[in-house]
Amino acid sequence: MNILVLNCGSSSIKYQLFDMGDDTRVLAKGLIERIGITDSILTHRPTGKDPYKVVLDIPDHTVGINLVMEALVHPVHGVIKKISEIKAVGHRVAHGGESFKESVLIDNDVKRGIEKCADLAPLHNPAHLKGILSCEKLLPGVPQVAVFDTSFHQTMADYVYMYAIPYEYYEKYRIRKYGFHGTSHKFVAEKACRILNMDMYNSKIITCHLGNGASITAIENGKSTDTSMGFTPVDGLIMGTRTGEIDPGALLFLADKEELSVSGINNLINKKSGVAGISELSSDMRDLGEAADEGNPKAILALNMYSYKIKKFIGAYVAAMNGLDLLVFTAGIGENDFSTRQMICTGMEYMGIELDEDVNNKVKGKDMLISKPSSKVKVMVITTDEELVIASDTQTIVEKLVY
Ligand code: ADP
Repeated sequence: MNILVLNCGSSSIKYQLFDMGDDTRVLAKGLIERIGITDSILTHRPTGKDPYKVVLDIPDHTVGINLVMEALVHPVHGVIKKISEIKAVGHRVAHGGESFKESVLIDNDVKRGIEKCADLAPLHNPAHLKGILSCEKLLPGVPQVAVFDTSFHQTMADYVYMYAIPYEYYEKYRIRKYGFHGTSHKFVAEKACRILNMDMYNSKIITCHLGNGASITAIENGKSTDTSMGFTPVDGLIMGTRTGEIDPGALLFLADKEELSVSGINNLINKKSGVAGISELSSDMRDLGEAADEGNPKAILALNMYSYKIKKFIGAYVAAMNGLDLLVFTAGIGENDFSTRQMICTGMEYMGIELDEDVNNKVKGKDMLISKPSSKVKVMVITTDEELVIASDTQTIVEKLVY
């Protein structure tokens, strides 16, 4: 079964076409950028063929997705013969609020639900809806599935997800912790358990998704019990350009002193902070690693802050779960940056974490156990694949449909 996975942003569309056969394969992937702006770019990467790039005006998502279809069936760059070979579409949806606890087949109620959550993810959910409506037009009758970044965390207890603000604001606006990166946390925990032959439903696991955005999740007996991102994806760990947790009083002080509006504060906490803000150099760990090696004090500070925060969250989640069996690192930094993994895991022997430094130093972008055989807690690097999760959830839901 061929499944098209779409991640529609406000001015971009990321896509992957999967053949979900016995050995699942990516047939093609690509990206459209600058939708609604002049000189939009389509970059199409068919597996086993040369990639190609076109620059043209793409005014909206329907035109964009239509171009994706044309690329997929193109006589030279294409990977399928007819559009009808696409049997289902899986959409990444950023926010499912409290309504969506799992992936769902999209119908009118689901579309209304996604729209209702738009308040909670104003940059993302309206764009996802545009993508869904465009696919309805371009692929009439083809089932579509929504896979939410938030749904895995819907198992958190109320005392974990509530904020200590007047209760009426929860009732009025549903202000609470939601958590994000759910598909990735679930996927890497499952994959690590498969590799280690562990029972996820009888284990205490912490997963660290460390990319441009970063979050950490406590998974007890297969369920997310706590996660570091909150009402928005700015909370928790220090990220490339996001603050992570911060005293809200400091922001009020800054708003006053620097005369910052709501959008000014938004820009500060999302775009100007994180390791980029501290180092005054870069949001990319590779740049910071190089600068730190050359003795740059702000790069060293940023890296120390980054790993210390993760260490603290691990400690908190071990306390909350009363133990830990498995620690997983994933995403760009978690998969590739051995030195950050080492900084996090050093000095955690008390908790039963013993990293095998020789192995850790060599692991880049592959699934691997990096703890010593004597380590009570297993530590693994696992490569994440959120698109694959979306494709498999879509397949599972669509296969149950009776035509
Ligand atoms: P996104 O959240 O955009 O999906 P990724 O998971 O791709 O992000 O992670 C991107 C980050 O991963 C980069 O900003 C960079 O800091 C880090 N990264 C990628 N490759 C390496 C590497 N070889 N060494 C250290 N850090 C890396």
